[in-house]
Amino acid sequence: MIKYSLIIPIYNEEENIAELYNRLKPIIDSLDGESELVLIDDGSKDNSLKLMLELHQKDSRVKYLSFARNFGHQTAVTAGLNFAQGQAIIILDADLQDPPELIPELIEKWKEGYHVVYAQRISRKQEGWFKRLTAYVFYRILNRLTNINIPTDTGDFCLMSRQIVDILNSMPETNRYIRGLRAWVGFPQIAVKFHRDIRFAGDVKYTFIKSLRLAIDGILSLSKKPLRIATYLGLMAAFLSLLMMFLVLYWRLFQHSNSLVGYAIIACAIFFLGAVQLICLGILGEYIGRIYDEVKQRPKYTLKEVVGFENKL
Ligand code: UDP
Ligand code: MG
Repeated sequence: MIKYSLIIPIYNEEENIAELYNRLKPIIDSLDGESELVLIDDGSKDNSLKLMLELHQKDSRVKYLSFARNFGHQTAVTAGLNFAQGQAIIILDADLQDPPELIPELIEKWKEGYHVVYAQRISRKQEGWFKRLTAYVFYRILNRLTNINIPTDTGDFCLMSRQIVDILNSMPETNRYIRGLRAWVGFPQIAVKFHRDIRFAGDVKYTFIKSLRLAIDGILSLSKKPLRIATYLGLMAAFLSLLMMFLVLYWRLFQHSNSLVGYAIIACAIFFLGAVQLICLGILGEYIGRIYDEVKQRPKYTLKEVVGFENKL
């Protein structure tokens, strides 16, 4: 029976795959049970898929899924969770930013009875100030807007018990923010601290836009509070318009020639209300778009190849 599953999403990581395997091999060899590596090719356009097949031929513990196109990191992890068969499931990146040497430490905590052991960064080597600042601000906003405590500075690098993964797999939602859902589930969870390494090779696959989208997905999938922003803005606009009414009345009665009463004030009011309404519509739209995604009930990904899971299919 497979005890440990390692889930690794891969998108154009041809320079990293060989090194990743070399670093992982001694670790999975030393574990006290059978392991499997579940690689997910997220529609790579380079040689990644070929390298994955070569690894599978060399070592049958390496299994892989290949998406018919790029579906994104969170979906790749979701597919890995669907296929993993182990009792303890570990998620890590392919670029060696998540050091494989931390895995035995994660397993240690799992054996102590924790269901989720997430790796928490104490340092981010050579990440730009912009990425660090946005990450810092984002995690603080996220925790303010949600009632679920999402530990700061954690990514997807973690270990989860079979029980947690079964619950995650039973969640039907399409928009998946794994680290949020993982916290939502509950059960005893604990952090293990680590220093995040630099990317071994290749470029970052998460562009700023992709990270921003992930951040918005994270907030909206866990919180309804942004909807309340509309109410607050509406109340603020109502208060301002009341104030303006009194002002206009005052000017009309006591200051017959005030230049502010006229086109300028009307134009300002129109722009202000227009902006408030568009912002509220935008927030509503974000939620409605997500409802639309969910009701369509499309499969979360399409697979063009599944290799090494003969016993499962
Ligand atoms: N990744 C993926 N699909 C994507 C983008 C990224 O599967 O559309 C994978 C990528 O190959 C890597 C992991 O997700 O294994 C993290 O990506 P990256 O290192 O670019 O992001 P960061 O380290 O900034 O979180
Ligand atoms: Mg990375």
